[in-house]
Amino acid sequence: MTTPRILPSIDRLRQRPAVRALETEYGPVAVLTALRDVTGTLRRELAGPGLSPIEDGEQAATAIERRTASQLATGFEPSLVSVINATGVIVHTNLGRAPLAESASRRVAQLATGYVNLEYDLAAGRRGSRSVHAEGLLSRVTGAPAAVVVNNNAAAVLLVLAALAQGREAIISRGELVEIGGGFRIPDVMRQSGALVREVGTTNKTRTADYAAAISDRTALILRVHPSNFRIEGFTERPRLDDLVALGQRFELPVVENLGSGNLLDDHTPGGVDEPLVAASVAAGAAVCCFSGDKLLGGPQAGIIVGAEEPLSRIRTHPLMRALRVDKMTYTALEATLLEYARGRARTTVPVVRMLRATTEEIDVRATALADRVAGHPVFEANVVSGVSTVGGGGAPGSALPTRLVRLTPRGGSAVKLEARLRGLHPPIVARIEHDRVVLDLRTVLPEQDDQLTAALSGLE
Ligand SMILES: *Cc1c(COP(=O)(O)O)cnc(C)c1O
Repeated sequence: MTTPRILPSIDRLRQRPAVRALETEYGPVAVLTALRDVTGTLRRELAGPGLSPIEDGEQAATAIERRTASQLATGFEPSLVSVINATGVIVHTNLGRAPLAESASRRVAQLATGYVNLEYDLAAGRRGSRSVHAEGLLSRVTGAPAAVVVNNNAAAVLLVLAALAQGREAIISRGELVEIGGGFRIPDVMRQSGALVREVGTTNKTRTADYAAAISDRTALILRVHPSNFRIEGFTERPRLDDLVALGQRFELPVVENLGSGNLLDDHTPGGVDEPLVAASVAAGAAVCCFSGDKLLGGPQAGIIVGAEEPLSRIRTHPLMRALRVDKMTYTALEATLLEYARGRARTTVPVVRMLRATTEEIDVRATALADRVAGHPVFEANVVSGVSTVGGGGAPGSALPTRLVRLTPRGGSAVKLEARLRGLHPPIVARIEHDRVVLDLRTVLPEQDDQLTAALSGLE
């Protein structure tokens, strides 16, 4: 047993270079609190029974320094950290959806630390409108004359209905009154906007005539919703957008389409991702379309509203706009992402698009390299097998992209335990369990993370 009296005073400790370095890093207040904490704990330990390796003041001070540094490091850790997404779910809502393109991240880093012309008209030298940002690029890539950006697509739906249908009826098919995920239900959002939900048709079949029969002087618009995360198969019918637009034109009613994913590319992947194209809806005459910025589009979280000038100006000037608008970082990341599309480079530079289009051969090369590098691992055996990746994020229901998986068979213990250990690594690896094995799908691992992934796996004991 050592006497607690050998413990150095807090003042003495604060003279030590290592503690001063901690003060520079974390500030004197946090360091003082941590020092008191650690010293208190150590004093109780020394007063207790049992042998202590600490025999003099210098040893005590070193131990306090070490523990204080580690306590501060843990206490100051941000809760949001990078993870490796090896799930094969491309637009993984729980993992932050779309990873940004290099150019978007670079632009944000360049602009975020300074002032920007967010609401300033540089030519006129006076106050401008933030809603001009991204509008030109959105017009270019969708063909719509006007555009507005809000916080996410749920906000876009709310705002569009509030601005165009408050106190009046929005006609919607019973087959499109869907829940998107996280409890986001289209009929609930419609009610929150103040629009009156006028349901027509049945779950599996709704015809243009059903919409026509519901039109009255209370009707504000026709709403069409992309069912996103589910598919009705078999005996089904849904009017084409052109037919709804023609109906709307007869009664001077706008057709609003909630597209969900925001697909901007007209060529489909080998996996058959068949999401509606924004430009096609605009061309078909939808007055307003809305979609997410961080699903298939592959940009920052945002809700994008594109369409004709008149409805867009009502949307832009609605009081809710102020509550739903986005900041300079979102505009910056979105503009940089859209620029990749405008330049025709998105297929190689936007991560979501690149992952969607990666071939099984490309993935197999990376999977095989990884399996080779961890061959003979003490904790698991690695093989490469075939499997499927998914789009996720409520996009492309039923789409299954063929992939090659690195399958980890534990040499002892269960797949559940191994999967949990992978989540505890730095950076955490989020994997899937299939047939009692852990599987890693490199489709969603950024190629520049392959080495990090190999190193983390190799370090597992
Ligand atoms: C994803 C989705 C939403 C919600 O979009 P967020 O950007 O997550 O708010 C709304 N409607 C449809 C059809 C969707 O697919």
